[in-house]
Amino acid sequence: IAGTVAIVGFPNVGKSTLINRLTQSRAAVVHETPGVTRDRKELLCEWTGTWFRLVDTGGVDAADGGPFGSKIAEQARAAIEEADLVLFVVDARAGITPGDEELAAILRAAKRPTIVLANKIDDPRRDTDAAVFHRLGLGEPWPLSGLHGHGSGDLLDEIVARL
Ligand code: GDP
Ligand code: MG
Repeated sequence: IAGTVAIVGFPNVGKSTLINRLTQSRAAVVHETPGVTRDRKELLCEWTGTWFRLVDTGGVDAADGGPFGSKIAEQARAAIEEADLVLFVVDARAGITPGDEELAAILRAAKRPTIVLANKIDDPRRDTDAAVFHRLGLGEPWPLSGLHGHGSGDLLDEIVARL
């Protein structure tokens, strides 16, 4: 296993949809442990000969969210701790939310390699919408549509290149 990739982001930004997309392309899901905890789902994936562990931190819903120290932030911290690479998913249609700011602060402090995924950009002509997320201070945001797959092959290439 080349490394562990954690997917973090507030509820409804599209984490689960992205995981489905990533694992139903060429990546093979060989091991799934749903419900080990309510909040955590772990998959083993393969892309162009490289195996990695993909951890979905979804499962805490928006009602649990809110101020610093929330369950969402707590869960993200734990996932970031064990990750070699973090995929920070944001909803490009919503713009930067207080929840995004909260997670971005945790990620900046953790200094883990992070890719900001500006998700829900279904139309490649809107890729420039990703640029506003630069302000999160975590590097160049990637335009992506987990739902339609736009950008997901490039993302898998990038993941294995950075592990
Ligand atoms: P999670 O809570 O972060 O796991 O988010 P989900 O994957 O459950 O997605 C939340 C909602 O956003 C669902 O209605 C998805 O269909 C929708 N969604 C996810 N990804 C995309 C996308 O790339 N484009 C659009 N238009 N909708 C998306
Ligand atoms: Mg989810």
